[in-house]
Amino acid sequence: MTTPPLPTYADVQAAARILDGVAHRTPVLRSRRLDALAGCEVHLKAEHLQRVGAFKFRGAFTALSAFDADQRRAGVLAWSSGNHAQAVALAARELGMPATIVMPHDAPELKVAATLGYGAEVVRYDRWTEDREAIGAALAAERGMTVVPPYDHPGVIAGQGTVVKELLEDVPDLDVVVTPLGGGGLLAGSLLSARAVAPRARVYGVEPAAGDDGRRSLEEGRIVTIGTPRTIADGAQTLHLGELTFPILRDGVTEVVTATDDQLVTAMRVAASVLKQVVEPTGVLGLAAVLSGAVPQTAGLRVGVVLSGGNVDLERFAALVTQGADGAEGVEQT
Ligand SMILES: *Cc1c(COP(=O)(O)O)cnc(C)c1O
Repeated sequence: MTTPPLPTYADVQAAARILDGVAHRTPVLRSRRLDALAGCEVHLKAEHLQRVGAFKFRGAFTALSAFDADQRRAGVLAWSSGNHAQAVALAARELGMPATIVMPHDAPELKVAATLGYGAEVVRYDRWTEDREAIGAALAAERGMTVVPPYDHPGVIAGQGTVVKELLEDVPDLDVVVTPLGGGGLLAGSLLSARAVAPRARVYGVEPAAGDDGRRSLEEGRIVTIGTPRTIADGAQTLHLGELTFPILRDGVTEVVTATDDQLVTAMRVAASVLKQVVEPTGVLGLAAVLSGAVPQTAGLRVGVVLSGGNVDLERFAALVTQGADGAEGVEQT
């Protein structure tokens, strides 16, 4: 398979027109108490308030909108541990096409239920022993469905880029932009927008400390693949960057930094107590790295942070914020 050309800021602008009136224009949250805690001016882009509870709806709807009539008839297939699944399921329903989603057995039950609720078929697999890409590709070939991957797709990257495009429209003079990093769709899209609109801003990606394949990939100048990382950030348990996301990150990102599970719990507590917001562990990667100082030299500056998702079972949320990452271990995600 040949790699499609890399998306550009023009693709992000086109995605913004496709999403106008379909995706929510999410608010940017501020808090003086948070600024005092962080030692800088924090502007939080609230994508946990996006449709399906995460920014993934933007990329999925943008990608599915480009399907031709034959592709729409056969429908879409996706594999995901959660938010991309819900996003593809809802986008498919809105566009009137069938959807099949391949999800791990231990995906958060809330996310599975939501995916089914949007009318998609769910096929499950064992994350520790089976290869979801092989399962998905075989099913798609059998059914003539088009695969939309969670991050390594030009339409997905362009759609995710609208998050930081909007953030920079609302807060044009940001010094620093910080986003969570899994496979890099959100960060690559953010870079397309930031480099076009705010070229002087520093842009950081934050991944779980247990799964720092992104940081290592940039260090080694090639896509590094790791084993499934054990972290509470289930939305960023990706094994490697993509063929499209890697070169965009390599050419544009200031640095990739990490957050530990304990730092994620601290950030979830801050989001809940100071901001009154329920944000999932993956969703606070950026906030955690700003609070911990992993994002360097932010003192007194204007820092934009993407809160990327809010899909966490209430029981698990309660266990995490009261007992911490270890204490919540016994609370099943399924
Ligand atoms: C998918 C996801 C991420 C990571 O996004 P990538 O595009 O894979 O880097 C971060 N946060 C949440 C809530 C997600 O669902």
